[in-house]
Amino acid sequence: MIDPNEARKLPVAHEVDVLVVGGGPAGVAAAFAAARRGARTLVVEQFNCLGGVATAGGHGHICLYSVWGGGARVVGGVPYEMARRTAEAGYGAVTSSAADFEVEGMKLVLEQMAGECGCRLLYHTMFAETLVEDGRAVGAVVQNKGGRQRILARQVIDCTGDGDVAASAGCAFEVGDAETGLCQPVTLMFTIGGVDWGRVKAARTSYELADVWKRAQERGDMRPFQTKIMGFWWTPTRPDQVGINFTHINNVDATRAEDLTAATVEGRRQAYESIAVFRKYVPGMEQCYMVSTPNTVGIRESRRVAGEYRLTREDVMAGRSFEDSIGWGSFFIDIHNTKGPGMDDKVWRPPQGFKYQIPYRIIVPKGVENLLVAGRCASCDHEALGSLRVMPQCGVMGEAAGVAAAMALKDGTSPRGIDVGRLQDELRGQGAIVDERGIVA
Ligand SMILES: Cc1cc2nc3c(=O)[nH]c(=O)nc-3n(C[C@H](O)[C@H](O)[C@H](O)COP(=O)(O)OP(=O)(O)OC[C@H]3O[C@@H](n4cnc5c(N)ncnc54)[C@H](O)[C@@H]3O)c2cc1C
Repeated sequence: MIDPNEARKLPVAHEVDVLVVGGGPAGVAAAFAAARRGARTLVVEQFNCLGGVATAGGHGHICLYSVWGGGARVVGGVPYEMARRTAEAGYGAVTSSAADFEVEGMKLVLEQMAGECGCRLLYHTMFAETLVEDGRAVGAVVQNKGGRQRILARQVIDCTGDGDVAASAGCAFEVGDAETGLCQPVTLMFTIGGVDWGRVKAARTSYELADVWKRAQERGDMRPFQTKIMGFWWTPTRPDQVGINFTHINNVDATRAEDLTAATVEGRRQAYESIAVFRKYVPGMEQCYMVSTPNTVGIRESRRVAGEYRLTREDVMAGRSFEDSIGWGSFFIDIHNTKGPGMDDKVWRPPQGFKYQIPYRIIVPKGVENLLVAGRCASCDHEALGSLRVMPQCGVMGEAAGVAAAMALKDGTSPRGIDVGRLQDELRGQGAIVDERGIVA
């Protein structure tokens, strides 16, 4: 948190109603929801696109919109709209469960959606410090090519994934597994071309191709950094390309540039090593080549900001309902091994049809007014995050934050004090699904 007297010396670059820091799945949903309610809204984003892990992180696959195992759709509103519109524009495919898309196409569609609702964008700008006065967030100090400057805001929404804004404002937070403090590994996605997808599918004996990596490692063709494919993301609109979720780097603190740099260098090395293995061992990939690595390593876990409620593993596994529900989660407890390759022993696979509600209180941080924290950095434990962190659910939290911030402005209160029943009505009114009533069979 910067000293207010020091901050006042900095020029004011923008003055807005709602400042959204971070333009990932949570940030776009927050920003579009606020802007659609007439709030002057600005998104500050360090990279040159909206979408976060889905675009800058190169991960062209979003799931789950449905209950676990597929079927009834439990996520609507902006998170589903961004996938549906990307598919309708010809850049991918969407079902009631998941979306597979070209990351470049999604970048374009999200900017179109921002333009339609008058949401302003400020790319190439790094959040630096939160402006706090009398316990209220009143904006942020940012840094870009124009130097250090202030953005003044009546409401601030932290969608950085890492809780940068809340941490700077002095909010309490947790990091990693409660026993070890370790976070999930990071992954540098990469996209390859020259793939004969039909042959890959036909030859794929197991989803994870675990036998292939085992053989390659036994023969010295690959370092033992990974034992399973975590995702081959293919979409019919670019049939010879596949996005690969495979690299695996442990012991990364995503809030340290030194760690992110080392992880990126190691991730790119693993990606090129993998391509050599694909060519040699995977039918249909003999001619594959690197198309791209993304702007950033994908972060699965860093800060979780203490909120009015902390969602737990028990809540998730029990499929709990909450009176202040803002939407549904339904993904398994997906925890990648924090100490080595593969998956963690804390993984939990739910029964078919599984779902649980996400309470509003997990995006309301303790201690600071006029601040909301949506997405991966919301209030939960390490295991609940394994499920809650997926993009539809980050979008659910973001959309609720955007609506809540706009309501707070209108009602002259802080998001902590809004009428949650009205928030739920407003969310329903724009296609979000907050309870059993809205579920699309
Ligand atoms: C490798 C990998 C695979 C995954 N697989 C899936 C999957 O199959 N399906 C699924 O739905 N989800 C998946 N996830 C989870 C999901 O992608 C993330 O948890 C989700 O994107 C988090 O959304 P978010 O908006 O909270 O954060 P992010 O997507 O991380 O977005 C945060 C945004 O804030 C910006 N930002 C951060 N700090 C600053 C700052 N200081 N200043 C300015 N800008 C800043 C970032 O550049 C970014 O654009 C995966 C994640 C990873 C890493």
